[in-house]
Amino acid sequence: MIEEWFSNNPNLPTFAGPTSLFRFPYGNPEGADVVAWGVPLDLTTTGRSGARLGPRAIRAASTMISWGKSFPAGIDFKSALKAVDAGDCIFDHGIAQDFVERIYEFADRIVSANAIPLTMGGDHFISYPVIKALAKKHGPLALVHFDAHPDTWPDDEKRTDHGTMFYHAVKEGLIDPKKSVQIGLRTYVEDHLGILCLDAPWVHENGAKKTYQAIKDRVGKQAAYLTFDIDCLDPAFAPGTGTPVPGGLSSATALEIVRNLNQIDFKGYDVVEVSPPFDHADMTALAGAQLLLEMYLLAIQNHLPAKSGKKTKGKNKKNINS
Ligand code: MN
Ligand code: MN
Repeated sequence: MIEEWFSNNPNLPTFAGPTSLFRFPYGNPEGADVVAWGVPLDLTTTGRSGARLGPRAIRAASTMISWGKSFPAGIDFKSALKAVDAGDCIFDHGIAQDFVERIYEFADRIVSANAIPLTMGGDHFISYPVIKALAKKHGPLALVHFDAHPDTWPDDEKRTDHGTMFYHAVKEGLIDPKKSVQIGLRTYVEDHLGILCLDAPWVHENGAKKTYQAIKDRVGKQAAYLTFDIDCLDPAFAPGTGTPVPGGLSSATALEIVRNLNQIDFKGYDVVEVSPPFDHADMTALAGAQLLLEMYLLAIQNHLPAKSGKKTKGKNKKNINS
């Protein structure tokens, strides 16, 4: 029966049943602690498209890791927080100009419900309206940005592009560059706009531990946003993406870094640029799902104490049925 679909029933096979992210129940943001949602958009890619199919592929791959307790900490993640999958952001693909506002509205509804957005792209541009919605509430955010690319290339303010949205975000004061850090880069940009860059050779030389310590030192207590462009991983680990660049991080290194970013005050998380048409054996989608699970585990660690001290949460619950 349907309620068993979303349970932790060990008999629910990974190869059948619902494909919500981690088999979270489908639901609206109001009353949830964490809201998974997809943005099936790839209109701003400069290379190969296909990331519009990312949310569907990540959700399907996530069924492989949505049972039991987490590794290595053994957290019962299915019941630790109230998490829902709120579905995908809908926009008319025939009105391309409209999508920025549609994504912003969806993100804003999650943020207004005091929930943490756990977002599946889509191309990397989709992080920009999410950050905008979060910055409205929390002020300029510390950006923790995993990528092969800086995405801070200079741009005209009218353009939307998955390689320039952080240029706009810095110029508009949505991101505090002095508290922000980029990890895994292997493409050149003239100006990092004040953001610290730990490029891929730096990570290879210094290892995961020094990398996550450097990230924590940089961010400090600032409200932060974690965005993971899957092309941060080497194409050997994540071929299914639009603009792959050789020489990237291994899945193991990236997971170890992300897993140890506890104590950072993340207000939202995303994984972007998974492009299933270029994937093999679902390996990129599965890497994306595993990273989202690590992010969700960070949310559990960071927000459980706050939750237990916040008994009045239900009192101000808005009832929006749209
Ligand atoms: Mn990117
Ligand atoms: Mn990239």
